[in-house]
Amino acid sequence: MSIQANLHHIKSSLPTEVTLIAVTKTHPSEKLMEVYNAGHKIFGENKVQEMCDKYTELPKDIEWHLIGHLQTNKVKYIAPFVSLIHSVDSLKLLQEINKQGIKNNRVIDCLLQIYIADEETKFGLSFEEAESLLNSLEYIQLKNIRITGFMGMATNTDDQDKIRKEFRSLKLFFDKHTPLVTSNFSLLTLSMGMSSDYLIAIEEGSNMIRVGSSIFGNRNYNL
Ligand SMILES: *Cc1c(COP(=O)(O)O)cnc(C)c1O
Repeated sequence: MSIQANLHHIKSSLPTEVTLIAVTKTHPSEKLMEVYNAGHKIFGENKVQEMCDKYTELPKDIEWHLIGHLQTNKVKYIAPFVSLIHSVDSLKLLQEINKQGIKNNRVIDCLLQIYIADEETKFGLSFEEAESLLNSLEYIQLKNIRITGFMGMATNTDDQDKIRKEFRSLKLFFDKHTPLVTSNFSLLTLSMGMSSDYLIAIEEGSNMIRVGSSIFGNRNYNL
């Protein structure tokens, strides 16, 4: 199927409250424009340099989401334009995003990335670490960031029950914190689910999915 047909197929089956992030990493701008021309303008990238290059090249009404691991020394490059950072995994990073938010005179929306998978390689905070970050005095003082939700990635496995349990654990954590609203904390977004598991994620309460290969086909990792 074509990129546009894939996009249409996915979008037509989504509940209205679920936002699709088209994950464009490794794909050239021409392919992004196929999605853009089909009316979809929310893109996710996992590398700062690639996101900045595409931002420069492409129309300015695209919403850019940073979904991959972010190093503190690179925050400054995306701070002027990023719509949502899905991958905040430390107070130090959040403080740097806040600093760049001040410089750019904006409030930058962030998700805490929570570690729910049973794999060594995935980044993120444990539930306990997330709690202690949220309860810290340092966090409470930050005015140019806002935590608007959580992001999680399930284990890469065929075991659907395991995936479902991992997503469910994050939904429970999300529900526990939604009643709390402060000037820099207001949970709206639960970012869970990628090509292989977004249907399960939605059943378990996700309202933002990050889908790459089901739209663009397989990535060439040698790029
Ligand atoms: C690449 C990536 C995705 C999309 O993966 P697909 O399997 O291609 O849908 C989602 N989330 C993150 C954090 C990614 O890095």
